[in-house]
Amino acid sequence: MRKFLVCLSAVVAVFSCNATEKPIQDSKPLQPPINGYWQQKADYKMEIDMDVETYQFKGKQNIKYTNNSPDVLDKVFYHLYFNAFQPNSEMDARVQSIRKPDARFAPNVGTKENPIYESRIAKLEPNEIGYIDIKSLRQNGKKLVYTISGTVVQVKLNTPIQPGETVSFDMVFKGQVPIQIRRSGRNNKEGVALSMAQWYPKLAEYDDEGWHAYAYIAREFHGVWGNYDVKITIDKTYTIGGTGYLQNADEIGHGYTTKTVIPKGDKLTWHFIAPNVHDFTWAADPEYAHDTLQVPDGPMLHFLYKKTMPQENLDIWKKIQPYSAQLMTYFSDLVGKYPYEQYSIIQGGDGGMEYGMCTLLLGEGTFEGLFKGTISHEMAHTWFQFLLANNEAKHEWMDEGFATYIEYKAMNDIFVEGTINPWSNAYEAYSSLANSGIEQPMTTFADKYDFNQLYSIAAYYKGCVFMSQLGYVIGEDNLDKTIKRYFKEWVFKHPKPLDFIRVAEKVSGLELDWYLVSFTQTTDVIDYAVKSVDDKTVTLERIGIMPMPIDLKVTYTDDSSEDFYIPLRQMRGQKPTSAITKDDWAWSYPTYSLETSKTIKSVEIDPNGFMADVNRKNNLLDLQ
Ligand SMILES: [Zn+2]
Repeated sequence: MRKFLVCLSAVVAVFSCNATEKPIQDSKPLQPPINGYWQQKADYKMEIDMDVETYQFKGKQNIKYTNNSPDVLDKVFYHLYFNAFQPNSEMDARVQSIRKPDARFAPNVGTKENPIYESRIAKLEPNEIGYIDIKSLRQNGKKLVYTISGTVVQVKLNTPIQPGETVSFDMVFKGQVPIQIRRSGRNNKEGVALSMAQWYPKLAEYDDEGWHAYAYIAREFHGVWGNYDVKITIDKTYTIGGTGYLQNADEIGHGYTTKTVIPKGDKLTWHFIAPNVHDFTWAADPEYAHDTLQVPDGPMLHFLYKKTMPQENLDIWKKIQPYSAQLMTYFSDLVGKYPYEQYSIIQGGDGGMEYGMCTLLLGEGTFEGLFKGTISHEMAHTWFQFLLANNEAKHEWMDEGFATYIEYKAMNDIFVEGTINPWSNAYEAYSSLANSGIEQPMTTFADKYDFNQLYSIAAYYKGCVFMSQLGYVIGEDNLDKTIKRYFKEWVFKHPKPLDFIRVAEKVSGLELDWYLVSFTQTTDVIDYAVKSVDDKTVTLERIGIMPMPIDLKVTYTDDSSEDFYIPLRQMRGQKPTSAITKDDWAWSYPTYSLETSKTIKSVEIDPNGFMADVNRKNNLLDLQ
């Protein structure tokens, strides 16, 4: 998701153009399992018939569900995300009760001083709400009993699913697309007809932590890996973009091929296949322009945007195309090769959100807003969270933070900005949060932060700092290697925080559990100070409870300077550095003294600002 706010200060004070049918590729086999790792599999077949007058659709769904767990399952859960967009839903209740709600859900109709937040969901009429209405559900052909609570269906199985067994679930359903409130919906403010994200009955994930049948409150998703085969029947004038390779381009046209034999009738049936994904998203509009651009040694990029926008917006949509190709190559080099043959950038008419092989975003912004601010972030999510599919509801910082980290790095490199610390904004935002007294740890469920900014700063900025600061702890080269190895070991899986830090430990040879625990599971802060300087002796002090290794710059009275490195004892080693390495510092000693060879003029802790010290004022002692 695109971040939505910055500072806490106010608060505290192709579709590969195939003409021929493409055989479905099976999910890639897992790498050798790591520590007994397993994951469930759900292969979807769906047929959807959309009525673009009523925005209602009929659907048929078959899921081949494979229980790769060691457990016998006597129930399963489905998400019905569209049910959130109804007055008095759990989402509506949260929007109405949370302090300072997201303005997209509840704009302030009062004043800045006396805000009145009005839930948009509460005002939806029956023909504007979203819903999925299940007509029938069967397991291996036999009818199932189920109960629906809001956005979650609990299904009692007729026959429990044994470890290793594959069963078939068949559902017939009817749905209505809501007026767009957030992410998904119809007829949004940019006039996009259909943005279809999290729109179908979707199996909840079961993993070694059990079921994750989260209600849809606001944030985000966790899904089962599998193959998708989706047929969408819709009015002939509509162009569709989204997840999956179009199988019948010759019957469709719409920018997917020029050689067409269009069938008779008012509607077309689009047939998509998406191998090894955990979501299927699409958008459709009768006024989409559709451009394509082949990334060298990469996927075909598709751009779908309203051709009715003013010329200046259309020019921006042309300008972003080569940059998007460059970005795809950049991220592939940085993290790991993009494994699909297509990626689509689609005007969905709402703030950016990441999906399988595509993103939906606001289309009317400036070049800076659209490319530097949104595409850079949403495309980064292809790696952090789509391919490295952490649980977004539970470990939100792993996708928002890591995506923000590579986004800022990419913008700094692609636009040759030359900033020493491209993440300095993130450090500042985190610092304001840490000093606010109302920080909640990053282990907080994404939907459970006291208010919106606390989530955003923790997930996006502190999560970003977690990564960039790790480069300070283990060294930049080791961080780059960690990111690549993390991708290699965990692509197409569901990694957790421990999985990431274990990779960093293996790459660096350093012990890092203290870093993961203190920075992500507590609100412990880092604050080091230069306590005193006496001729050739420096004394440093640890004020915050969270320890760190120290980079130190000492300048002498003759204007020469030396860089020192003080390892943290509990890391049992040190990062590669050209600085002079001194004795290590065990965290329980509040102070540490260091002798130099010449008379000191000034001392500075972490001169490049890569350590998230929440009080930098005491980092520098200048005797002149
Ligand atoms: Zn995001």
